[in-house]
Amino acid sequence: TPARHVSVRVAPLGVRLILILVEDRTREKRVEAVRRDFVANVSHELKTPIGAIRLLSEAVQAASDDPEAVERFAGRMLLESERLTVLVQQIIELSRLQTDDPLDEPVTVPIGPLVAAALDTVKIDAQARHIEVTASGDADLDAHGSSKQLLIAITNLVANAVSYSPDRSRVAVTTRANEDTIEIAVTDQGIGIPPEEIDRIFERFYRVDPARHRSTGGTGLGLSIVKHVAATHGGDIRVWSVEGQGSTFTLVLPRKKETHP
Ligand code: ADP
Repeated sequence: TPARHVSVRVAPLGVRLILILVEDRTREKRVEAVRRDFVANVSHELKTPIGAIRLLSEAVQAASDDPEAVERFAGRMLLESERLTVLVQQIIELSRLQTDDPLDEPVTVPIGPLVAAALDTVKIDAQARHIEVTASGDADLDAHGSSKQLLIAITNLVANAVSYSPDRSRVAVTTRANEDTIEIAVTDQGIGIPPEEIDRIFERFYRVDPARHRSTGGTGLGLSIVKHVAATHGGDIRVWSVEGQGSTFTLVLPRKKETHP
């Protein structure tokens, strides 16, 4: 009968529709779980510096007749509030990356000026610690995407290289092109990363035992931002590291194809 004919034809479509709906629900649930996890982690991470600032201000009040102690506590309060500022800034960056789609209108991004701008950001820190930061390679390369995001990614890598390096060492940024990709490599002579930690350093808020280095100001968000930027640009982030000798982080991006009219 015609009715049966129709139902046979419609059924697979219906099943497919239901499957799509179920799949969509699972994706929705997963996204929701990731979001809930992130919010829980953020609240936890914010509580630490806020708690410290609170305790320190109580300590300042209690030590009002001891100017030296007051100065010491106030100095630590300043450090904690600076840490809080960076943390909030990175949380905003990360959630922007996750919610907007800034690659809606990708543009040609010259890499040379971005590297120069990233080096500028770490200049004062590096100079104070006699760390020589250099850029070399092909400065004339173009990537394709968001200049703002790529600047954040390169800056995070260079800032880490300086943070996890001893005084009087060197940090080198080299750019080079392969046929289809651009590689921006940041090499340091710093503390390196233990092999068993390498997979985890790109997780949000993950830090290799902070006791092993002097920089305690980190948030553990920098590399997860880099990884996110690499992914939205269709690229990749690679790391090579030997503990006690140094690390190289390489941001690999698709190369902007020449368009011949
Ligand atoms: P953080 O704010 O702690 O630097 P990141 O996400 O940028 O957060 O890095 C995560 C962890 O990876 C750092 O805490 C550090 O232990 C390790 N790490 C990152 N970059 C380097 C590097 N160049 N050399 C050694 N360790 C590094």
